[in-house]
Amino acid sequence: MIYLDSAATTAVRREVLEAMWPYLTGDFGNPSSTHSLGERAATALGEARATVARLLGARASEVVFTAGGTEADNLAVKGIALANPRGRHLVTTPIEHEAVLESCDYLRRHHGFDVTLLPVDGTGLVDPEQFAAVLRPDTTLASIMFANNEIGTVQPVAELSAIAERAGVPLHSDAVQAAGWLDLDIRRLGLDALTISGHKLGAPKGIGALVVRGRLSLEPVLHGGGQERGARSGTENVAGAVGLATALTLAERTRVDDAHRVTALRDEFIATVKSMVPDALLTGHATSRLPGHASFCFAGTSGEAVLLELERRGVVCSSGSACAAGSDEPSHVLLAVGIEPELAQTAVRFTFGAGATDGDLQLAAAAVLESVLAVRRLTPEPSGGARPPRTGVPAT
Ligand code: PLP
Repeated sequence: MIYLDSAATTAVRREVLEAMWPYLTGDFGNPSSTHSLGERAATALGEARATVARLLGARASEVVFTAGGTEADNLAVKGIALANPRGRHLVTTPIEHEAVLESCDYLRRHHGFDVTLLPVDGTGLVDPEQFAAVLRPDTTLASIMFANNEIGTVQPVAELSAIAERAGVPLHSDAVQAAGWLDLDIRRLGLDALTISGHKLGAPKGIGALVVRGRLSLEPVLHGGGQERGARSGTENVAGAVGLATALTLAERTRVDDAHRVTALRDEFIATVKSMVPDALLTGHATSRLPGHASFCFAGTSGEAVLLELERRGVVCSSGSACAAGSDEPSHVLLAVGIEPELAQTAVRFTFGAGATDGDLQLAAAAVLESVLAVRRLTPEPSGGARPPRTGVPAT
């Protein structure tokens, strides 16, 4: 099987599992326990925190381990907005992950926040001038994702954070998809908060982190025993934290070379797909995009049907019309970049990791051609009225 769905999730790396193993077995203690088992767990947790902090340009006290990207995004948006009394205005973009969009909407519905959705252009990019223009004296937080999960577009984060800083507005960035590919040093980038998630980079599902610059206070979302310096109650996932730190360390060692090599593979894959299916529409930005990310709309198909054909040919990826959570709405990301709802139903996303090979991608491109042709042969013209309106969003 050729796995081209790394943006949905990745396998746990062997070295990660090996690093975690002791904390799932012999050294299984609760870091809050005062006996030696607990102390060993607390030490491992502290080391994992220090490692994550170092790799993200933060202090150890600025790292909050969470149960993944969704929780870290919730904590960033709700936690910063509710704890920092600048005002009740939030700025975000219409292409954010639901974890950010729904958190903003929660604050709007339950706490009277005003939410500005900063438009993006047809490639998914935010306009820095427009960003500067929407910031207000009562803007409490801006949250702009580093790289989009559906279309791969990478935002000019350093430029945006300089603007936010001049306006005195904290900037959070969801870097779940960027982690492992791009430099995420929050001090170098000038960011105030950043989200990462383990399962997108070779650590298990259910571990993530929010890094928050010390000058910002954080209202907890989970209340309880006061772990994570009160920011996130709940017995710590020690093995998960060790796994996340190990995965980040491994990714950082080869990150620049991997990004370079995989970008070249991506560009070749995109060019091959476009030469085989000339009307394939690449969604997202041509160059400011994640290394291992290629997403297309194939007019006259259904993304879901193409996905099934691809799987029959041994290629696994995401359809822009797979119903992630039983949703039958067209992808909010594709609509926000101006793609018509009908075309949005034909989206297919190919995402690959550092292990991608030219041979696999060539096989995948050939399978794309066969699959698109197969679906087009079977799909009546829209005027026939028989094509089912299958819509939704890919596994995030
Ligand atoms: N943010 C982005 C951009 C994502 O792609 C995902 C993936 O699901 C998330 C947040 C949520 O992360 P998690 O699956 O760890 O909750």
